[in-house]
Amino acid sequence: MLVVMKAQATPEEIQAVCDHIVQLGFRPHPLPGAQRTAIGITGNQGEVDRGNLESLSGVAEVIRVSKAYKLASRDVKEEDTVVRFGATGNPADGSSSAGWRNGVAIGGRDLAIVAGPCSIESREQAFAIAEQVAQAGAQFFRGGAYKPRTSPYAFQGLGLEALKIMSEIRERLGLRIVTEALDSESLDLVAEWADVIQIGARNMQNFSLLKKAGRLRKPVLLKRGLSATMEEFLMAAEYVMSEGNYEVILCERGVRTFADHARNTLDLSIVPALQHVSHLPILVDPSHGTGRRDSVLPMARAAIAAGADGVMVEVHDHPERALSDGPQSVYPAQFAEMMHELEQIAPVVGRNLARGVAVDSRQ
Ligand code: PEP
Ligand code: MN
Repeated sequence: MLVVMKAQATPEEIQAVCDHIVQLGFRPHPLPGAQRTAIGITGNQGEVDRGNLESLSGVAEVIRVSKAYKLASRDVKEEDTVVRFGATGNPADGSSSAGWRNGVAIGGRDLAIVAGPCSIESREQAFAIAEQVAQAGAQFFRGGAYKPRTSPYAFQGLGLEALKIMSEIRERLGLRIVTEALDSESLDLVAEWADVIQIGARNMQNFSLLKKAGRLRKPVLLKRGLSATMEEFLMAAEYVMSEGNYEVILCERGVRTFADHARNTLDLSIVPALQHVSHLPILVDPSHGTGRRDSVLPMARAAIAAGADGVMVEVHDHPERALSDGPQSVYPAQFAEMMHELEQIAPVVGRNLARGVAVDSRQ
């Protein structure tokens, strides 16, 4: 159920409707839009008595949402969601050596570029890569601290030490940090140290983890499960949103098919399909989506041409020595080339690749 407020409804009227929904034993989700606020109702098993709601002051109409996902749906929120990040560093503080960067966003006209190694392996490795991706214009740095590895004997990540290294990267280079939370314990730490909580493909249906992430107030980057349908993907986003965290970013990273020329089959057709039914921003990860360095650039270009809000790419300065995903990691020079290409493709599809403000080098 969805309560659409009149364009001129006051904050008091919106609050009164929310209070009424709580009194009925349900949960209100006020979602402000450009024209008007809509209030999603969750927690109801059947129909909510609309008569009562329609008579409240400021209410335009009450609509039944037929889709299984509600808060993630365009029925509830027509405008695209833009997840915003404030400026980093403090230019007013002369004593600060922090890298100053303007605010950035995921969604909206500017493309979001997330780049970095699969895993944080050492301070030196992380900084070497971060400096080069920042120079090329990435706004977000990725690096695994807690790794979901197929083998329990494979490198599992540096944990908290990696989170601290990435936090230093944010301070020094102004890059926002995206990193994966594997479980409830690492979720608390990732929420404390990072800017975006990544929930990986293998955890896309870890419903208790999704709900816990929904209780936090930090953007969640949700990767598509290895064999998830679009509806299952959106239902996973709905789990996060149902708990009150509306800042969910979807990420297509390839699915399992019979095709064996690539690690996964990158399903770019899900980009327009998702945009049709959902207001959430969507990134594409051509690294996990193909598993092959030589496929990353072509598929990144295709992702932007297909209308994605940005890409997430694994970059390593010595991929042959990488502790995870070396074969799909591009060299920094290839990443810079990709940025140059995406900058040219972006305007063709009405987008812009803002390379960000040059990093302050007073370190
Ligand atoms: C990753 O981004 O490093 C990762 C493990 O991705 P996925 O969950 O998509 O496999
Ligand atoms: Mn990886």
